[in-house]
Amino acid sequence: MGIELFENKKSCCGCGACANICPKGAITMKPDKWGYAYPVVDSSRCVSCGACKKVCSYQNGISLHEPIRAYAAVNKTQQQLEKSASGGAFSAVAAYFLKNESVVYGAALDFEGGHPIAHLVGIDDASQLWRLQGSKYVQSAVEQTYKKAKQNLDAGKKVLFSGTPCQIAGLYGYLKKEYANLWTIDVICHGVPNLKFFDDYLSIEGKKRGGVPTGYSFRDKKRGWGMNARLDLRYLSGKEKSTYIPARLTSYNTLFLDGDVYRENCYACPYARKERVSDMTIGDFWGIEREHPELLKQSEFDEKKGISCILVNTQKAAELCEKLSDRMYLYESSFMKIAKKNGQLDHPSAKSERRKTVMEIYKKFGYDGVEKWFRKKYKKQIIMHRVYNAIPRKLRVALKNAIKNRKDKLDYVG
Ligand SMILES: Cc1cc2nc3c(=O)[nH]c(=O)nc-3n(C[C@H](O)[C@H](O)[C@H](O)COP(=O)(O)OP(=O)(O)OC[C@H]3O[C@@H](n4cnc5c(N)ncnc54)[C@H](O)[C@@H]3O)c2cc1C
Repeated sequence: MGIELFENKKSCCGCGACANICPKGAITMKPDKWGYAYPVVDSSRCVSCGACKKVCSYQNGISLHEPIRAYAAVNKTQQQLEKSASGGAFSAVAAYFLKNESVVYGAALDFEGGHPIAHLVGIDDASQLWRLQGSKYVQSAVEQTYKKAKQNLDAGKKVLFSGTPCQIAGLYGYLKKEYANLWTIDVICHGVPNLKFFDDYLSIEGKKRGGVPTGYSFRDKKRGWGMNARLDLRYLSGKEKSTYIPARLTSYNTLFLDGDVYRENCYACPYARKERVSDMTIGDFWGIEREHPELLKQSEFDEKKGISCILVNTQKAAELCEKLSDRMYLYESSFMKIAKKNGQLDHPSAKSERRKTVMEIYKKFGYDGVEKWFRKKYKKQIIMHRVYNAIPRKLRVALKNAIKNRKDKLDYVG
């Protein structure tokens, strides 16, 4: 009887710590029939040493930290801020480490032959920082980065390791001991779709427009801080062109935002809570206009450009923040204020009935089927958002505020 790595899909987050630790190279990450990656044991190589079971933080649990401080934050370097999903907190921290001869790990989205590869990579040169910037709303493969980070740490290098909470928990499980030269950052995370699903979606977008995907940004800031995307395509003529794609007009982004295509375990995520796995947690400061209206009067905190939230979870991160004041505008806030519009700091995403429908359609008819279903089911939403996106931003913000104010008055009246 070989080793059973997980009882059911709720007990595996796909971090691959087991594949990193296996001394015989007997574990590989393989996609299931929907594309979600799970570890598979080659029983002819397995010697039943049990290292893979011991390393699993997801099943064995890991110590967590209650945030000790919270901030609203904005990167002071415009170029870094523009490439970031929110206020550029990550790149401000990463740039500090890169200046100080460290290795920084984070998620990159590369393209090969028109297909995306989302994976964690390590960089030690600031010229590569752009690769780790921006949110990639798809599961990134850890590959051998736990092993590589351990080699860096054992060699005395400073390491900043960033990723989703489960990836950071996986790293700690793999390392098994504390390192003074390791700092970790996790993103507030509502769940991850899989790479195959994303790749199939991009192929359809490419075909529709007659080009081959060469790049994708999930959070393009051309029209401000939001969830809209940008697709880069190469055409037969050799020309490259980027297309701006409002989130709610596409199947992938809509299904992602509505929580309909996450990994099975994301719906029971043990890290979607106040207590955090990393030294520092970063996210979008959604709702800042209500929580800190005073802040938006300062030109540094511009809603159009994006504002991050930071949870400082350890003393190590508190000391780090003190060194970052020349790289970031930091404004003291509170966990309560940040959590108000960020449900993932309290509970995992809810699993909808739609997920089953989408997965069944995907299995039977591929992404073409999902796209057809989306166009029909979301017809009204697509029309509404087309109209909404045609309204100039200034007018949209004014309208949104007017609706909010009216709602507040009604709420107050009861
Ligand atoms: C799947 C996912 C879900 C998220 N859900 C929320 C949410 O519900 N609420 C919220 O406030 N914020 C969420 N975020 C975080 C948010 O989108 C921004 O990434 C975060 O605010 C950091 O922005 P930034 O401007 O500081 O840096 P950026 O430069 O935009 O972000 C880069 C950082 O994100 C990490 N990252 C990006 N994509 C991935 C990935 N696929 N896997 C692992 N790490 C990744 C990088 O390693 C790096 O640390 C999510 C991020 C991801 C990847």
